Amino acid sequence: MTTPSPTPPATAAGTCPICGRPSVTEVKPFCSKRCADVDLSRWLGGVYRIEGSERPDPAANDADPEAE
Ligand SMILES: [Zn+2]
Repeated sequence: MTTPSPTPPATAAGTCPICGRPSVTEVKPFCSKRCADVDLSRWLGGVYRIEGSERPDPAANDADPEAE
């Protein structure tokens, strides 16, 4: 198969996983600090969600050690 369009150098360097723009070396592999932040919060949110989904632990609410 032959590709009609050449591969842009920006793509070779990497693209932002958040918005798809060419990544910037400073915040690689993202295009900006904002996108890096978005990815981070996404990642953290996913981790917390998985933990909560795995261990609902409704009793923990009843025996909250920080309540008193
Ligand atoms: Zn981006």
